[in-house]
Amino acid sequence: MDMPSEEFRRAAHQAVDWMADYLAAPGRYPVLPTMEPGDLVARLPRAAPSAGEPIDEILADFERQIVPALTHWNHPRFFAYFSVSASGPGVLAEMLAAALNVNGMLWKSCPAATELEQTVLAWLLDALQLPEKWFGIIYDTASISTLHGIAAARERADPDARRRGGDGSLTLYTSCHAHSSVEKAAITLGLGQENVRLIEADEAFRMRTGALEESIRRDLAAGKKPFCVVATVGTTSTTSIDPVPDIAALARKYGLWLHVDAAYGGPAAIVPELRPLFNGIEQADSLVLNPHKWLFTPIDLSVFYTAHPEILRRAFSLVPEYLKTNEDSRAVNYMDYGVQLGRRFRALKLWFVLRYFGRDRLAEMIRTQVGWAQQLAALIEQHPDFEVSAPHPFSLVCFRHKAGDQKNRRLLEAVNASGRAFLSHTVLQGNVVLRLAIGNIHTTWDDVRGTWEFIEGLC
Ligand code: PLP
Repeated sequence: MDMPSEEFRRAAHQAVDWMADYLAAPGRYPVLPTMEPGDLVARLPRAAPSAGEPIDEILADFERQIVPALTHWNHPRFFAYFSVSASGPGVLAEMLAAALNVNGMLWKSCPAATELEQTVLAWLLDALQLPEKWFGIIYDTASISTLHGIAAARERADPDARRRGGDGSLTLYTSCHAHSSVEKAAITLGLGQENVRLIEADEAFRMRTGALEESIRRDLAAGKKPFCVVATVGTTSTTSIDPVPDIAALARKYGLWLHVDAAYGGPAAIVPELRPLFNGIEQADSLVLNPHKWLFTPIDLSVFYTAHPEILRRAFSLVPEYLKTNEDSRAVNYMDYGVQLGRRFRALKLWFVLRYFGRDRLAEMIRTQVGWAQQLAALIEQHPDFEVSAPHPFSLVCFRHKAGDQKNRRLLEAVNASGRAFLSHTVLQGNVVLRLAIGNIHTTWDDVRGTWEFIEGLC
């Protein structure tokens, strides 16, 4: 028997009260916990209890044991990696989705999950100004979306690969600044890391298209089969933007599938004045963007679009008897378009977020964060001992102290050990560089400026 409904109601109210207090002021916690690896494991029992425990005790242990071991991604001074948000409407939808516990593998297994996914992805497509006829599907992460894009590319180039496996001839192109998920997809699909060409980048960390074409020609001359190129709009280290129109032209010339990774940057395309940064993406064969990165939607929710749903379907569809249904062709069975069968009702949270904020406010929030990044970069430029290390078209600023790597590593450690802010790093042109990524819904300009002043004070 499940938890009695009155007990559930009481505990749920308690949990929601906790969430409301938490989300009202996540900044009161240290961003990073003070602990060593293994500390939490050591504090928790070795085995699950044989007899059930009262829910009050479990909730109390959540506060006592789990919260102090959290890295607070909701913290307004979380500036590491890409800063994300669990906005109120998104959290509410996650709770409802958990209670409903539907599985959207087939239209029949939950029409609402399927048709809401179709609806919100059409809304988003419209907001991004992308071709109306593109097909969309929600996966968990951008890594998985990119895997599906490359699998579809392989299906087009070598339809027999699905049956006999790869023959080692297909070659994939991306920039040396592309996310590691591109290479991981090649590993997973059996294409082989050796067949991934990491094309050099220019001084602004963009793929060099001349080098791309040379690499394709070299491979053709060697009897290889170039089949796919992955361009990035908003790379992970610096948010650089590959020259998508030029890459699209080469993709057409050599018959390559163009997959665009806009995992982080993509949501900014809803801001009219930022849309030109995305010119050319409408020529892609597939595209990924993550509302869980920069559209105030709780993790996980990655959106994948393709101009060729029939190829994606050919790559993945495999329908055993027990999953056959008899609806007409209007019914989309999302299980046909990917590896996984079971699918969470993720569309619900995107629907809540898009409706609650509306396109204008979402665009305004992104615009404001991009503006703060520009203001921060200006402050850094004014400092005699610091320099901005890369162009900053979105809301990430890469910068470094001119004294060198050791100084920058020490600064990073000092900031992160303080519990007041969390930054991450990368290496650009051989130098350690600090990354300050703005994206959390709780962040204010005071948080950005205050963190910069704190860093200045450490010098
Ligand atoms: N692509 C880019 C450009 C990214 O920056 C990231 C993560 O930061 C990814 C892909 C992978 O995202 P995910 O964690 O959703 O797999």
